[in-house]
Amino acid sequence: MSFKQLTPLFSVSGQITEADVAAAAREGFRAIVDCRPDGEGAGQPSFANVSSWAAKHGLEAIHTPVTPSDIRDADVEKFARAIESAGGPVLGYCKTGKRAATLWALSQAGKLGADAVLSAAKGAGVDLSALAPRFASSSGEEKIYDVVIVGGGSGGVAAASSLLKRRPSLSIAIVEPADTHYYQPGFTLVGAGVFEPEMTRRPMASVMPDRANWIKQAVATFAPESNELTLADGTVLRYRALIVSPGIKLDWEAIPGLVETLGKNGVTSNYRYDLAPRTHELAQGLKRGRALFTQPPMPIKCAGAPQKAMYLSCDTWRRNGALDQVEVEFHNAGAVLFGVPAYVPALMQYVERYGIKLCFESKLVAVDGASRVATFEQKDTDGAVTRVEREFDMLHAVPPQRAPDFIAKSALAGETGFVSVAPDTLQHTRYPNVFALGDAIGTTNAKTAAAARKQAPVVAINTLSMLDGKKPHVGYDGYGSCPLTVERGKIVLAEFGYGGKLLPSFPKWLIDGTKPSRAAWFLKDRMLPPIYWRCMLKGREWLCDHHLLEMKAEPTAK
Ligand code: FAD
Repeated sequence: MSFKQLTPLFSVSGQITEADVAAAAREGFRAIVDCRPDGEGAGQPSFANVSSWAAKHGLEAIHTPVTPSDIRDADVEKFARAIESAGGPVLGYCKTGKRAATLWALSQAGKLGADAVLSAAKGAGVDLSALAPRFASSSGEEKIYDVVIVGGGSGGVAAASSLLKRRPSLSIAIVEPADTHYYQPGFTLVGAGVFEPEMTRRPMASVMPDRANWIKQAVATFAPESNELTLADGTVLRYRALIVSPGIKLDWEAIPGLVETLGKNGVTSNYRYDLAPRTHELAQGLKRGRALFTQPPMPIKCAGAPQKAMYLSCDTWRRNGALDQVEVEFHNAGAVLFGVPAYVPALMQYVERYGIKLCFESKLVAVDGASRVATFEQKDTDGAVTRVEREFDMLHAVPPQRAPDFIAKSALAGETGFVSVAPDTLQHTRYPNVFALGDAIGTTNAKTAAAARKQAPVVAINTLSMLDGKKPHVGYDGYGSCPLTVERGKIVLAEFGYGGKLLPSFPKWLIDGTKPSRAAWFLKDRMLPPIYWRCMLKGREWLCDHHLLEMKAEPTAK
């Protein structure tokens, strides 16, 4: 029998014999998928027979039996997994080959587009035009994606992979304008000269899940009532479910004089990929003088990052003998060193060891780079605000942060401008088919990649529930993590959830998060980058499960 090739990786045929299996092996197929229920026709070899022939000829055999009038999503998913796991060309067969082609078309439409799969089948002589209504639509503009994801950062890619791992046949579009994906938690170690900058970035194309459609554009506006959004070029995308994860806006312009002087005049910031190496250069070069480290008002991403930069710079000065000659000030717009009291004693030990002057309720409001003067608004105990100028030799500035403009002015925003979601289910408080995660949500957890790691499976599971007409049924406990790099080789590993509840991932004997430890440094330096690239972004939900709450009570959003 001749096989009909739909793509180089997939062909179909009618009922096969052992000779056909031998021919398939010679032609380089890796696996055979039997799409017929056993006993469907007289003289039909059973799957067990075909399986034994396949084994004899070195092929894998998979059974995905379906009847033509009743091909369900679960069958399509099983089939999608089967051809994906084969790792090479696959031969699907049934009585005529049409059912196998149908399963293939349904499993690939989300990835290749309905038009492409229909024409591939037609090219092989299999007419699947009757399937058209089952596809969301056959034309690009009219297409309705199962899920559209806004943002291909930590949260967006992790959510897409978590969804596809559970349901490979979903049609997913990820809207993301950037060419590069950043592992921002690594910026702190770049700023200390521990990581090379290149370790913290990869081409966006390399992190996009194969089965998702990457739309390389920015989202401009949302119309959640009609399940649509509009891209910057005016294209309208339609969806059954929307997942929003565009991160947080770094508002550098909010501090007059800062943008012009960043990267010059002793001014740096670990909050920018290109400037993080400058932090290390400046710290190494400074032998005496004054170094200022600033922290804007909350919320910011990784609330510990401003002081991490400071401790690691102090450690550099300690190691090269300059610490006594460098006057270090921490200007924090907030009123405390760290929001969760359990970690403060360990941090205070380092503040004292490095001789850091703490200036609370002191907000950076202007920078004069040429004169090397930073201006702060400082609040005294009576609430009176005065402007104070401080000369500096080095300034590590962290910009104020807010919801991205296109979110803040959209119907998805809550009062703070961030996406309004239920803190547990991460479902939008007004639009049940909208979910959100990452830095863009208006919840009280620490805005960290670690939080997005825990949120991604919650969003994936609840989105699938919603698509199946059910309620969200898992919850997020507010977990976030902030590895406070107090010196090179030691970290105070803050891990906590809503309300500041401590949520350690490891037993105390291994890592006591309230104390500086080498094990926590090893975790950040060696373990977390591969966990990020190879697990979190690939749908391998390592270090997630025990923060997934089964919703027993009614979720807080419908
Ligand atoms: P991002 O990863 O920032 O991704 C947002 C994506 O949305 C971007 O790719 C962007 O291009 C895209 N986007 C923006 N606008 C649009 C639009 N209009 N349309 C479509 N797409 C859009 N976390 C930790 O867990 N541990 C740490 O130690 C840690 N340290 C940090 C240190 C620093 C210096 C910094 C800056 C961050 C740190 N973080 C840390 C925080 C962590 O990086 C973020 O919390 C995490 O990346 C948030 O993920 P996200 O998907 O919400 O946003």
